[in-house]
Amino acid sequence: MGQAPYNHVFGTKDYVEYVEGNMPFVISIPHDGTLRPEDIPDRTCIGCSKNQDIYTIEIGKAIREHIFKLTGFYPYLIISHLHRAKLDPNRSIQEAADKHELAEIAWTEFHHFIDSAITEVEQKFGKGLYIDLHGHRHKVDRVELGYLVSGEELRLPDEFLNDESFHEYSSLKSLISNNNKSYSYIALLRGPESFGAMLENRGYTTVPSLNIPFPKEDEPFFSGGFNTEKHSSRSGGTVDGIQVEIGLELRMEPVGRIEFAKTLSEVVLKYLKTYYFENLTY
Ligand SMILES: [Zn+2]
Repeated sequence: MGQAPYNHVFGTKDYVEYVEGNMPFVISIPHDGTLRPEDIPDRTCIGCSKNQDIYTIEIGKAIREHIFKLTGFYPYLIISHLHRAKLDPNRSIQEAADKHELAEIAWTEFHHFIDSAITEVEQKFGKGLYIDLHGHRHKVDRVELGYLVSGEELRLPDEFLNDESFHEYSSLKSLISNNNKSYSYIALLRGPESFGAMLENRGYTTVPSLNIPFPKEDEPFFSGGFNTEKHSSRSGGTVDGIQVEIGLELRMEPVGRIEFAKTLSEVVLKYLKTYYFENLTY
């Protein structure tokens, strides 16, 4: 208990922040930076999103604090402080940085910090969970969970989606083949003990979940992006990934967003205990 203070490491010009952890949980926050330095020109890509995922840094820090309060351990936290108009770390380096050297350095550091955290988790704990934390502005204000499964794929009947051919593309690839409950892929995506169902049981409407197994055809849905693909077990290793997207209304409520951060922390701990470490004492 109480091993704080933990190391904060900053990358070049403090554009990227790495906060060391000591438990098998890693959070990255790519889209809530506010820095708009003049020596990095605005990205010129046409039609690409430059919106901030407002309040996701505050929510990520609140998750870290709440987990520490409950367990005495800290998750790892990686934050991009550059505004998305300057860098989008949740894209390939070409699209993220527009070939600008300083932005490329920040992109490289951001991903290096996530890699270091995940490697450390694999070495110390053997497995774990990674969340890439975002905010969306879709009309339906609910939590969207990205497992690298599109809305269209989620609308497939269980027997199709359970086919092994889908497993290797999933951000839960490692967990599917090795979870304490021996649950099927469908159970992990939208069963009664899925991450979505755990959030829903705590009062947060979530897709996919037991009650909302898939988004409807006309509902936009974020299924997981570059970070989730690059840093989850889909690309190898034993740390699984989930892209968590929080709706705008919830993020705009000063009390509500902190309550959500606390609930998400508790759901993560329950998830770790259910599927990864049954003897977890916290
Ligand atoms: Zn985002």
